[in-house]
Amino acid sequence: MSSRAGGTTGSTVVSVDATMKMIRGDLGVDATEVVEPGALLNLAPRLPLRVDVAGGGPVGLAFACSVQALLGRDVVVRVFDRRWKRAGDRVVWRDAADGNRRREQVVTLQSNVWSALPPRVQRALFVEGRYGEMWPLGPDSPAERGRPRNIKIRWIEDCLLDLAQDHYGVDVVPEAYTPPATPVEGGVLAICDGARSATRAALAAGFGTPNPDLYSLDGTPLQERVLGIRINARVPDEHTVPLTVAQNRFLFNSLGGGFINMRLTAEEATEVQSIGRFGPVDCIGKQGCTVRPDGYRFVCDRHQATFKPSVDRLSFLWPRIQDGLRLFGAEWGDVVGITSFTLGMTQNSRFTAQLSAGSYAFLLGDAANSLHFWPGRGLNTGLKSALSLVGTLKSRWRGKPLRLADFAAHEGYMQQLQFREKMRAWTTMVMPDEQGRPHGIEDRIRAGFEGPHDRQALIGELFARVRAVKSRLVDRMGSLAADEWYLDRLHSLSDATLKSLLNSAPWITREVGGDEVPVQPLDYPAERGARVLALA
Ligand SMILES: Cc1cc2nc3c(=O)[nH]c(=O)nc-3n(C[C@H](O)[C@H](O)[C@H](O)COP(=O)(O)OP(=O)(O)OC[C@H]3O[C@@H](n4cnc5c(N)ncnc54)[C@H](O)[C@@H]3O)c2cc1C
Repeated sequence: MSSRAGGTTGSTVVSVDATMKMIRGDLGVDATEVVEPGALLNLAPRLPLRVDVAGGGPVGLAFACSVQALLGRDVVVRVFDRRWKRAGDRVVWRDAADGNRRREQVVTLQSNVWSALPPRVQRALFVEGRYGEMWPLGPDSPAERGRPRNIKIRWIEDCLLDLAQDHYGVDVVPEAYTPPATPVEGGVLAICDGARSATRAALAAGFGTPNPDLYSLDGTPLQERVLGIRINARVPDEHTVPLTVAQNRFLFNSLGGGFINMRLTAEEATEVQSIGRFGPVDCIGKQGCTVRPDGYRFVCDRHQATFKPSVDRLSFLWPRIQDGLRLFGAEWGDVVGITSFTLGMTQNSRFTAQLSAGSYAFLLGDAANSLHFWPGRGLNTGLKSALSLVGTLKSRWRGKPLRLADFAAHEGYMQQLQFREKMRAWTTMVMPDEQGRPHGIEDRIRAGFEGPHDRQALIGELFARVRAVKSRLVDRMGSLAADEWYLDRLHSLSDATLKSLLNSAPWITREVGGDEVPVQPLDYPAERGARVLALA
């Protein structure tokens, strides 16, 4: 059950109810039934650290559960999210009827990251049918921890919201977070409200303003338009991996289905629009809308507007989308919806800010480092940032006011993450040529549309690339499809698509690979039951 702590939104006042929940949650049972009265007194609990979390997405909730699991009765946690609502005595996600579109994307969690979450969280997330292993072992998913795991972001959010309120006794508040006018002394604010963080903007005096200069070409911030084509998959997820890795135009991440992401040229991006009864509608790509199949057309059910390429016989984009489906063995009947988004990056100057005496705020998750998703690291980076702060609070909180110096190592870790992950993403965005000069993906794709096209040579070269990827992956993942299946996929594509795939180049795994930022190991206490026995 969730209860609203304190009175004023954004303050760090803690209710007695929340504190009792925290004590009960830490012990795993009703304390009065199991623990000798003297046992609680002997523990002489010090004042708990008060932690507010702005934003209950995957990073905010994972942070809340992990800090509660590690610090137990030394912390009282409250999370705010504007996408929640109260339903009886529970807090649940708002749904489409409430105007909230839940995210359907599949994300890949590296094993260095998922294995650092509390064991209780891991057990809830990774149940049969809810995750899959599609991608190979690598530096951030070493053999001793296991392969990366694909999981739906919506499932992560559902599990964590339930665990936060039912198991960890976290106070979940279904409201937007508003920083208090006067910062409260003592306490911690974890800012996890996403890439367009309003809380970061409100506290810009402490963090500075995100700057796009480092991720610009010729003075213009580089922004990429991507189409997300959601499909039901026909083939085992991992069979498609060599096709994704052999080029940079289409990326398919799947859990029995998922999104084929398609990088667009500027000309293709102008085609991404919907037409309503009275003309163009700001819809797909502008308001996060998805167009879904409706007979022969694709239509936005929110605006009743038709996705123009689906009815435009002169569309260049539509047959290219179809080639994307064919590449992964799918057909129009497998498409569930199409959406579009723009990706760019900015640099943050600082991730830690002092709000008042003994009171600090931290940028975590996408609020700290919003990444281009092609290398697929946004959530992993967000969870690493959250786990670093959890470990820091565990090692530094002694019931006395925290000092700025307590966070020097965490701030250094955040700068390291920013450098490693944004440089990986930036290299993938500009795709350097053999001389190391930026050769943007858009130019590479566009050049593929120009003839002449020697079809047999294009297929031969791409097939050789796919086979080379297959042989590199053979010891690092499960079985792949036979060569003939990959050859059939290539034969199904148009000449222009074949050439643009070839031009887009295979994944630059060597350039973006290498050492990963290590995850802080956390020594979670034994879980319920075991802890009660120890106390008795
Ligand atoms: C297509 C796509 C594919 C991706 N694939 C991968 C992948 O394979 N691997 C990977 O690691 N990452 C991937 N990512 C990135 C990943 O989805 C993000 O990094 C992750 O969702 C960030 O989580 P977050 O909790 O920091 O932010 P968000 O998920 O944006 O959550 C922020 C939360 O804050 C809430 N909020 C906002 N403002 C307020 C406010 N004022 N008050 C209260 N609450 C507020 C929102 O409602 C939301 O719940 C992908 C992203 C995309 C778009």
